[in-house]
Amino acid sequence: MAGEFQAPRGTADLLPENEEAHRFVVGTFRKVTGRAGFRSIETPAFEDTALFQRGVGDSTDIVRKEMFTFEDKGGRSLTLRPEGTAPICRAWIEHGMNKLPQPVKLAYEGSFFRHERPQAGRYRQFHQVGIEVIGSGSPLADAEAICLLDAFLAELEVPDLELHLGSLGSPEARQEYLTELTSYLASRESELSEEVRDRVGSNPLRAFDSDDEGTSRVMEEAPLLLDRLDGEDREHFERVRELLDAAGVGYTVDPTLVRGLDYYGRTVFAFTCDRLGAQSEIGGGGRYDGLIARLGGPDTPAIGWAAGVERILLALDREAVAPELDLFLAWTEDSVAGRIPGLASELREKGISVGFDLAERNLKGQLKQADRAGARWTAILAADDSVELKEMETGDQRAADLTDLASIVAD
Ligand code: AMP
Repeated sequence: MAGEFQAPRGTADLLPENEEAHRFVVGTFRKVTGRAGFRSIETPAFEDTALFQRGVGDSTDIVRKEMFTFEDKGGRSLTLRPEGTAPICRAWIEHGMNKLPQPVKLAYEGSFFRHERPQAGRYRQFHQVGIEVIGSGSPLADAEAICLLDAFLAELEVPDLELHLGSLGSPEARQEYLTELTSYLASRESELSEEVRDRVGSNPLRAFDSDDEGTSRVMEEAPLLLDRLDGEDREHFERVRELLDAAGVGYTVDPTLVRGLDYYGRTVFAFTCDRLGAQSEIGGGGRYDGLIARLGGPDTPAIGWAAGVERILLALDREAVAPELDLFLAWTEDSVAGRIPGLASELREKGISVGFDLAERNLKGQLKQADRAGARWTAILAADDSVELKEMETGDQRAADLTDLASIVAD
């Protein structure tokens, strides 16, 4: 049936049969982060546009092309949040969370919005779960964050995962390296693909992602940022690796790992899943030691990650869940119908899930509804209070006492 309206491009309804799987992912996230002492935070769905311009970075694709920005009636420029870290840092500063014991460990979940070209695993409204550890520069915080994402995905049993680990060093080291890389690329310009040549000025790191044969050959000999890390950055990275090794978390060092947000420095990481095709990243994050200061707060180191709920569900390939009900109440004569809502409430209070027909069908129609509702049992009530209890899977039917219904069904 095609109605007059459809959900906007790149968005999707979360229908009941899929909502349960979604809830399972979010529930697992809460469990895993809760037992690590993280507390939940929720920030508004929109923020001042300037927060993202400053926080995520004016030169990033997200800010340049992907934000849903609008003006409110007071002429203020607002933006539907494209990511969670800048808003949480804003909240950390605004609510003086620097006075709390550090680091502050926060977990969040919600909808995020990016005006991207929709495809499998890429939407304009999507859901993320994520954490931030704000107020520690120790590699222990990096290891805690990465281990937690690993534990979360393991608990969900997401298959075929690979953890990529890299370090971006300090902003100064990165700048120096980018200059070196740009002049290296310029020195071999004639061997590069046209597309890469066009982007050298704006984003030379992207050359590492190119499939072009000539470019790949050039990149094999290109200088790597990981080899240019200075003393403390190198030590930090080595320590993170040691901690992950000690925790038994496997990873591949990926010297070309770049992330689409400006605020990262030092550790960056991403979990990919082979089953996902082009959009293979399930979740990732990194250290953003400069962000809070950039937003006007005190100089505060921090690290975090976010994972996409839709991508996790795609990787899990979970079947849509059929409805389930403990007991369906049916009746033989119209005179009994009036007692059904009260009886249903009584049984529900005892923790039993109960349904009944809301369209006043005859008994045959009611039994069909019981089937569709996924009921384990159906009780057929007669005017004389007698009850026929039918076990739906086997079709076995027996007489039962109204007062025994709850205990039989709960068994
Ligand atoms: P990011 O905030 O870009 O670091 O992304 C973190 C995670 O969010 C990614 O690993 C994806 O799982 C998910 N994600 C990002 N963008 C989208 C999108 N447009 N649609 C669906 N999931 C996304």
